[in-house]
Amino acid sequence: MTDQPRGVDADYSLARLTTVRTGGAADFFARADSAERLAELLRWADAEQLEVGVVGSGSNLLVADGGFRGLVLKLEDKLATIERDGDRLMCGGGARLPKAAARAAAFGLSGLEFGVNIPGTVGGAVKMNANAYGGELSRVLEWVEVAGPDGASRRRPDQLGFAYRRSNLGSREVVSRVSFALAPADPAGVKATLAQMRTRRRAAQPSGIKTFGSTFKNPDDARAKGRTAGQLLEAAGCRGLTVGGARFSEKHANFVENTGSASTADVLRLMEEGRRRVRERFGVELEAEVQVLGEVGGG
Ligand SMILES: Cc1cc2nc3c(=O)[nH]c(=O)nc-3n(C[C@H](O)[C@H](O)[C@H](O)COP(=O)(O)OP(=O)(O)OC[C@H]3O[C@@H](n4cnc5c(N)ncnc54)[C@H](O)[C@@H]3O)c2cc1C
Repeated sequence: MTDQPRGVDADYSLARLTTVRTGGAADFFARADSAERLAELLRWADAEQLEVGVVGSGSNLLVADGGFRGLVLKLEDKLATIERDGDRLMCGGGARLPKAAARAAAFGLSGLEFGVNIPGTVGGAVKMNANAYGGELSRVLEWVEVAGPDGASRRRPDQLGFAYRRSNLGSREVVSRVSFALAPADPAGVKATLAQMRTRRRAAQPSGIKTFGSTFKNPDDARAKGRTAGQLLEAAGCRGLTVGGARFSEKHANFVENTGSASTADVLRLMEEGRRRVRERFGVELEAEVQVLGEVGGG
């Protein structure tokens, strides 16, 4: 047994750390406020052979109702800073992406505008290869610092195995710091672009609901005939479909909404029904975009 580091909470409820607000507790939970503290926690988890999970903003995360058998980490303070270094923006892995986009605009730096409507952290965005409006994360990413039980190392975008909403980061690898190489621009122009993007987003997606954004990836399948996951779900009659406290949004069929008392099991059953309908109607197999933390049966 290795001594448990200070500030590790046992049986910590995770639902509040996710935007959909469902799911159970982690056996252990800790906040990492510096690189040294993160290293200490990762070494402890390794010595105790604990699984490791990271929660960013929890905006693409579904926690199993039975919780997570292991240590869940959340990055903050020194691991959530946003600083300018010339034409670069240096961010901690726990920094919020919309805030980073706004800060870049204020500094007169362009390239991160696409992040303004992605309600996740910089680390979560790297893990998920997050994107919007054709903006490509890998185009502005210079390097990523990845912490693991054996220490931290830097990776370039071409070493991160980026594909559609995917990277090669393993479960014990934590994005602790990121450098974005941006281009100088007129701050007023960049801010105007952000404002336009926010307006566009408000028109297209529901707001003020408990959701994790897109549930399924857009399929790469000829039978989809170019339709998005949302369009296929809508055509298969899923808009407004409800299981327990979970519902496919009336405004955007690829968004699952927690109407108040949903469990993760409700969400997973709803997703399975959506997947079944799209499979039967179009022969297209939808793949989940949302990440699951913990063990779920079937789903
Ligand atoms: C309303 C809404 C709109 C959205 N719009 C978009 C969009 O336009 N484009 C898009 O791509 N996504 C979108 N999303 C999904 C989500 O915001 C992104 O996937 C985001 O990048 C997730 O970041 P997060 O910090 O919330 O990660 P979490 O949801 O907390 O975690 C997601 C995954 O990343 C891992 N992770 C988190 N932080 C780290 C870290 N520091 N190091 C290593 N792994 C980490 C987690 O372990 C988990 O596997 C939307 C979500 C919502 C709710």
